[in-house]
Amino acid sequence: MENNEVQRHSGSTRRTFLSASAVTAVAAPIVAQSGIASAAQAGTANVAGAARALGSRHAFDPALRALLRQIDPDRIRATIQRLSDFGTRHTASTQTDPNRGIGAATAWVTQQMQSFAAASGGRMTVQQQTFVQPVANRIPVPTTITNVIATLPGTASPERFYVVTGHLDSRCTDVLDFTSDAPGADDDASGVAVVLELTRVFATHQFPGTLVFATVAGEEQGLYGSSHMAWQMNAAGNDVQAMFSNDIVGASQAFDGTKPDPFTLRLFVEGVPTAATANDIALMQSVGGENDSSSRGGATGTCGPATMWALATAPGTPKNLQIHTTPPGTLSGTNLTTLTWNANPESNLARYEVVTRETSAADWTGAIDVGNVTSVTLDISKDNVQFGLRAVDNAGNLSPVAFPVIAA
Ligand SMILES: [Zn+2]
Repeated sequence: MENNEVQRHSGSTRRTFLSASAVTAVAAPIVAQSGIASAAQAGTANVAGAARALGSRHAFDPALRALLRQIDPDRIRATIQRLSDFGTRHTASTQTDPNRGIGAATAWVTQQMQSFAAASGGRMTVQQQTFVQPVANRIPVPTTITNVIATLPGTASPERFYVVTGHLDSRCTDVLDFTSDAPGADDDASGVAVVLELTRVFATHQFPGTLVFATVAGEEQGLYGSSHMAWQMNAAGNDVQAMFSNDIVGASQAFDGTKPDPFTLRLFVEGVPTAATANDIALMQSVGGENDSSSRGGATGTCGPATMWALATAPGTPKNLQIHTTPPGTLSGTNLTTLTWNANPESNLARYEVVTRETSAADWTGAIDVGNVTSVTLDISKDNVQFGLRAVDNAGNLSPVAFPVIAA
């Protein structure tokens, strides 16, 4: 276990948005491309009245239901038992013993993923991503570390990536003890089992975006495997729009003996991005967007097939969303707000929705259908609500919400 663990969580949040997909026509004070609505025409400054109210009901796609029915709890249990049977999966454990250690476990995971890929009609590929980690804290000698990666290329926008991982390595109390038993059933055979099961059920489907299922190693020694994979994807120019790390999934009892609700997951999602620049932080302070990072926007309540299916099926998050507080040709101090963004690349894109919420609300509460455009002017003051934007495809699938930056 390192930093970002998946645990239990109760209560629904804005993160349930992707699965709440009701789409209806709305009457909203907007003008898209053809001018600016007058205040009289709009007739209201009440956002809750103008925008379609967003409820919390879930409208699962039948295809998602079918996929969920393929999840096999017995397979997940068997995977956890098999991984525990390797005795230890410590990063510095043997890589030559056929039955014990990280080498044998890596070979078994690779074989599993290859068997799933065989059912994909040649679309899913499996690779071992191997590198040598030099001596470092918790790495006493140069050590070969291997990630196992299954990739299912997207059909419509393959440059858009969604990544799900679990860490294969384990440890006992002494993080440098690589010979003692460290079965690591909870931490993190459980996460690897989730990744393998997702690989299996997703392999026979096709999605617009590219899906990556990976087991990473060197986690307990310092996140080395996942860091290497991230650098490689960055160097390749992959547009990674979301990544989920499954670590300790499904534990039946907490350290203090309490038994949490088994039907909810705790999702750890950063608010202010780790990589935020001083300028980014200044923008958040200006518009109150510290809770609207791309991570928060993309997170949807669970780390399982509900999430991956929705992200891979839906359009990508709109890019370069800017808010113009004084639309061109208008006087400063107006209540008009203009949003502009880049067109999405998906061929099945239907339209965009501006979502709104009161500044005091934690969740988006309203949606305004603005059509298939790349700019819109609203007769809603930016002083009254927060704005976001999401893309909608022909089937009604919703992208994560983009949060605007202030136009220069
Ligand atoms: Zn862990």
